[in-house]
Amino acid sequence: MTSPKIDVSFVIPVYNEEENLPDFYRELTAAGEKLHRSYEIIFVDDGSRDGSFPALRKIQAADPRVKIIRLRKNFGQTAALAAGFDRSRGEIIITLDADLQNDPADVPLLVAKMNEGFDIVSGWRVKRKDKFVSRRLPSKAANWIISRITKVKLHDYGCTLKAFRRDVVKNIKLYGEMHRFIPAIASTMGVAIAEVPVNHRPRIHGKSKYNITKSVRVALDLLTVKFLLSYSTRPLQIFGLFGLLAGLLGGVLGGILSYQRVILKQSIANRPLLLLSVLLIVIGIQFITMGLLGEIMVRIYHEAVEKHIYAVREVIDSDSEEKN
Ligand code: UDP
Ligand code: MG
Repeated sequence: MTSPKIDVSFVIPVYNEEENLPDFYRELTAAGEKLHRSYEIIFVDDGSRDGSFPALRKIQAADPRVKIIRLRKNFGQTAALAAGFDRSRGEIIITLDADLQNDPADVPLLVAKMNEGFDIVSGWRVKRKDKFVSRRLPSKAANWIISRITKVKLHDYGCTLKAFRRDVVKNIKLYGEMHRFIPAIASTMGVAIAEVPVNHRPRIHGKSKYNITKSVRVALDLLTVKFLLSYSTRPLQIFGLFGLLAGLLGGVLGGILSYQRVILKQSIANRPLLLLSVLLIVIGIQFITMGLLGEIMVRIYHEAVEKHIYAVREVIDSDSEEKN
């Protein structure tokens, strides 16, 4: 891993935000100056089809702290963030939306909280300025479910305005719609997470890229995250448990039926229970086999991406100092 050269990296996903970019850049640099630290701004153009790219070029030409990463097509907000993370050099990485809904003036607040020793500081849009039925209501439900399932207690997972310590972001691989689950995924590494109330503003230019169908994708990703969080290193524990239960129940039913057939000489050909017993035994074997396959795949996965089953904060050793 290359050593960080600057203090703060801003990572901004941009998809068709032409009219918002000049104001956004002005507000962000104003907030950046207040930090009195070195910083870079990484705009990730996620395949915009309006004038966002020329607008970014204009900003970048006048400010050496600005970088643009232009993706070949629209990959989605999570992929855009991942592209930005991969090329960021800051010790602290801060993500914001480019649509001016997040207020860059909140940035110093997040940085101050990070300096108290937290690894992730998440914004909480206390007064969210979006439509109630299509956005705020599903988001309320999602937040409630996510906090129950992931055991990471936040009020607002969907807020893009967040600050991360570099090691946290570098150790996480993002897929699907998972950027909102970074705190949950990171919690497996044992990170300190804080939440600060932030300002939220209505969108004035451009359109929101999301609608209610996003909730479905988020729900499916939540299922993946739950599995990764709880069982990714031991799939047989979950599949095997179901398999054993089903197999055992099927076996007991089969035993009863055999007893009735062999000892009591009753006919069992017309018993629906026979079907159930066979079904349960087959499901049981399948679940256990799946668990074993899962175990093999998990091992391959961890080897392939050199992912450890632990996370080290630092190593204290007079010979060498390693940070991971
Ligand atoms: N965005 C992106 N790629 C996408 C969708 C959105 O980079 O496919 C960016 C978008 O430009 C904005 C941020 O992600 O900066 C959040 O999007 P949006 O404001 O539409 O989401 P909302 O605030 O409505 O949840
Ligand atoms: Mg928005």
